[in-house]
Amino acid sequence: MKTLGKYSFGLGDRFGHQGSAQLKAIIAASEKNIDITPVWNKSNREHTTIGTQPVDVRIEADSVTKNAGFNKPYFVDADHINLDTVDRFIECSDFFTIDVASYIGKKSDEEDILKFLSGVEKYTGELKIAGTKLSFKTSISQIRQIAEKYLFSSIRARVIYRKIEKVKGKGNFVTEISMDEITQPQTPVELFFILRMLAYENIPVQTIAPKFSGRFNKGVDYVGDPLLFAREFESDLLVIDFAVKEFGLPKNLKLSIHSGSDKFAIYPHICSIIKKYDKGIHLKTAGTTWLEEVIGLAESGGEALDFVKEIYIKSLEKIEELCSPYADVIEIKVSSLPSKFEVSDWNSNKFSDTLKHIPGNSDYNPNMRQLMHVAYKLAALQMKDFIRLLEANEQTVSNCVYENIYNRHICRLFDI
Ligand SMILES: [Zn+2]
Repeated sequence: MKTLGKYSFGLGDRFGHQGSAQLKAIIAASEKNIDITPVWNKSNREHTTIGTQPVDVRIEADSVTKNAGFNKPYFVDADHINLDTVDRFIECSDFFTIDVASYIGKKSDEEDILKFLSGVEKYTGELKIAGTKLSFKTSISQIRQIAEKYLFSSIRARVIYRKIEKVKGKGNFVTEISMDEITQPQTPVELFFILRMLAYENIPVQTIAPKFSGRFNKGVDYVGDPLLFAREFESDLLVIDFAVKEFGLPKNLKLSIHSGSDKFAIYPHICSIIKKYDKGIHLKTAGTTWLEEVIGLAESGGEALDFVKEIYIKSLEKIEELCSPYADVIEIKVSSLPSKFEVSDWNSNKFSDTLKHIPGNSDYNPNMRQLMHVAYKLAALQMKDFIRLLEANEQTVSNCVYENIYNRHICRLFDI
């Protein structure tokens, strides 16, 4: 049975050059007694934009772990797949993030809803989370609403899961269910009944990514009230603990945080809550690595600096096209973006300080950072030059990637 470790990190590496630097951060954490399972993830959207194949991620993960003599488990995640996109991921992946967000809100047959409701009668009235002080009021009409909103997506999840299972065989892969790419967060009560549905569909879910309150914009800090997030996160965690026992779900089932990179404001809360209850976490960081490649090239100066300046200037011209696929997960104040004339004069330090996520640094500009986050497509259009510059400045770039994952993410999240 493929089992995901207690702590795991989703590592995105869009251009496939930073696997070693990322793994170095994982190894550094294990030297501090924090064992993190690396999971290389790349979504269908990223493959399409860059023109890579899912198998490329497998080749990279296998080679960097082998070169480093890393003999602990690691995974390759088919990130955000659905029934239409899963096929080409099946063979080379052993972790599947089944994305059901687009099915949420579609109503399933009345017959299915009635069947579900008849099985959850004992949770009506008041839902007490055993062993905790948590309890929720749960009327039958409220549970019906939840079923009308989520039952169809759990049935779709089963169809996708079975498709994968048929090829790979039971127990040979890790299953995550993601519901994060929608606007409305799920409440802890909804999460409880969603888990009931997934258990009923016999999906051995090991991680679940709900939509939390607040905004998880790409590459920048959490936007919202961290204390509100902390309360919600703690309730979700207790609900999962109870649901695991109640429904016989995998014991290691844990929360997954998507767009989890750079959410420094909530890391201390996540850290104290998972420690308090001795629970695991899966944190997905993807585009933050591409941003470090840009920062590393900026720091390298010369042609490399000119190259990333040019990407930024082009991104200003193509801002709408670049931002539209990410509309729900970025918030850019266009008036706060530096103009192409300003940026043309910048030296290495000014460019990298503007992009580097150091809260409190007066040069740091989250608007420019978000725009660069979605501008990776422009690097893909000049792939030859981009890769040549990455390789020519490998030491500087991989240092940036390592520092970012280890110091800014792992150390903060685990309070090292
Ligand atoms: Zn996601």
